[in-house]
Amino acid sequence: MTNTPRPGLNRRGLLRGAALTSGAVALGGALSALGAASASAQATGTGASAQAASPYLYWRGAWGARAPRSPIQVLANAPRYIVVHHTATANSTNYSLDHALALSRSIQNYHMDHNGWIDTGQQLTISRGGHLMEGRDRTPEAIAAGQHVVGTHVANNNSTCIGIENEGLYTSVGPTQALTNTLVQTLAWLCGAYGLNPHAAILGHRDFNATACPGNVLYSMLPELRNRVTQTMRAYDIPIAAHRAHAEDGPTYPAVPEDEPDHEFYHGPVRGPDDFSR
Ligand SMILES: [Zn+2]
Repeated sequence: MTNTPRPGLNRRGLLRGAALTSGAVALGGALSALGAASASAQATGTGASAQAASPYLYWRGAWGARAPRSPIQVLANAPRYIVVHHTATANSTNYSLDHALALSRSIQNYHMDHNGWIDTGQQLTISRGGHLMEGRDRTPEAIAAGQHVVGTHVANNNSTCIGIENEGLYTSVGPTQALTNTLVQTLAWLCGAYGLNPHAAILGHRDFNATACPGNVLYSMLPELRNRVTQTMRAYDIPIAAHRAHAEDGPTYPAVPEDEPDHEFYHGPVRGPDDFSR
């Protein structure tokens, strides 16, 4: 039921992404975003170019997702922001696909059974091995259609923000090269698919809520990531949207708490009175 065919997605792009992902692992994660881009010379047309930038995406069927408890809400409009998170789980040195798929299952179980949500909170998850996975149901179809699956990951802003959970805790160390490369490719794909400017759209959880998420180190990498995403989009001939000023529903940059609760999966406020989904 959760592994239904996904019409409208560029299957060739996904398969090519799989080869690149495997290559990245074999090379110890040394594959650069631009190196990956050079392999995409066959991608043609701006419509296909955003999808071509996507790393291989492991759908919910691959990790054995449970069905959502109630229907997923999909908004007809694109999100305005892409929010980078850390999972606040251990910085695992298990970079295997099996570990990544197990991570997706454990996050979904925690979000549904402990938090009482209808499904996984975030739309996308990246493991420290660089594997990209679907989170909340219907996310790939929504992205392909320029629509927004409402998740639960950034309090009071879930109707305008799509979230990427990056495995690990980045308060004092940075992510792996494999995770970073996949994150860049994923952000380029999303910016292209939604017509977003990387320098306006890519933000951290702490830009919206009082939290340390995604950790000082990963947060400090955001300017560099925005630049790499811009370079990647150019390499794929993905049109880059104009930089527009933040709207009224933009980030509020609250203070970062010094004593954030320390337990697995906690990375700040994820639901607020303005959120209509859970
Ligand atoms: Zn977060």
